[in-house]
Amino acid sequence: PSQHKRSFYGKAQVQSTFPTRNSFSHKGKHGKGLVIGGASTMPGSVGLTSRAALRGGAGLLTLATVPSVIQALASSTLEATYISLQDLNGYILDVKGLDLSYDGIAIGMGMGRHEEAVQVLQKVLQKASCPVVIDADGLYALEKDTSILDDRDGPSILTPHPGEMAHLLGVSIPELLSKPFAYTRSFAEKHHVFIVLKGAFTIITNPEGEQWVTDTGNPGLAKGGSGDALSGILLAYIMQDQTIGDALCNGTWIHGYTAELLTAERHSEHDLLANDIIEGLAQTYRTLS
Ligand code: AMP
Ligand code: MG
Repeated sequence: PSQHKRSFYGKAQVQSTFPTRNSFSHKGKHGKGLVIGGASTMPGSVGLTSRAALRGGAGLLTLATVPSVIQALASSTLEATYISLQDLNGYILDVKGLDLSYDGIAIGMGMGRHEEAVQVLQKVLQKASCPVVIDADGLYALEKDTSILDDRDGPSILTPHPGEMAHLLGVSIPELLSKPFAYTRSFAEKHHVFIVLKGAFTIITNPEGEQWVTDTGNPGLAKGGSGDALSGILLAYIMQDQTIGDALCNGTWIHGYTAELLTAERHSEHDLLANDIIEGLAQTYRTLS
C-alpha cells in the first residue's frame, strides 16, 4: 500500500550504469578519497577499506589514522598515502587541522568506541562538504547525537548491519526486521541521508525515500572484514558514478557478486576472506565489460 518507489537492482542495472574509464583519464578524475579510522588493536579494518577503495577504482587514497596503524599497513598498502593523527592509548584523539577537502570520505572502521570518537565524527561531518560514508564505530558514535546529520553541507551515507540500524533507531533487531523498508525510509527521510542496510538482502535508500534491493552475496561474507571492504568499494564508487544512489547499488551488488564468483571457483563459503573479495574484484569487472 506504499506510494514509495521500491525496485530490484540486478546485473542489468549495474551494466547500464557502471562507469567506464576514459582513455584520456588521469588519477585526478577518479576521485581523491580519505579513510578515517583504525586503532592500535584494529589495524586491519582500515587497511581493508583502503585497499578496497583502491581496487574499486579510486584515483588517490589517503588514510588518516594513529601512528601504529600506519606502521602496520604502510609496507603492504603501498598505493595509499598516510596522515598521522594524534593518538591516545592507541585510539584517535583528535582530527584538529586535518584537511577534509577530498572527493569522498569514509569514517569509522576499526575506530573504537572511546569517548573522543564522538567529537572526531562530529568535526568531520561539520567541516567536510563532500559525501561521507559512516560505518561501524562511526555509527556507534552517531547514536549519541543523530541531529548532527541534519545540518550537513554534503551527502551522508550510513552503512549499518541490522544491529547498528536497530541501535540508531532505538528499536530491537526483530522489530527493525519486521519492517526494514519502512524503518530505513523514515530515518533516511527524517535526516536526509542515504542508508545501506546490509544483510543477505541489502536495502539501499536515498534521502527522498526511494529504495532498491540487491540480493547478491552468500554466507561466505558472514565474517569480520566484509563490511570494511564494502565501505571502501562504496567510497570508490561515490567518487565516480553518476549518482550516489547508483554508486551504492553498484557497490553492494558487485561486493556480493564477487563473493558468488569466488565461492563457485577457488574458494568456499567457509574459507572466504574480505581480502579475497578485494582481490576478486578483477574477476567481476571482467565479467561486466
Ligand atoms: P558487516 O556486518 O559490517 O561486516 O558487513 C557484512 C557484509 O557482508 C555486508 O555487506 C552484508 O550484506 C554481507 N553479508 C553478510 N552475510 C551475508 C549473507 N548471508 N548473504 C549475503 N551477504 C552477506
Ligand atoms: Mg561492519
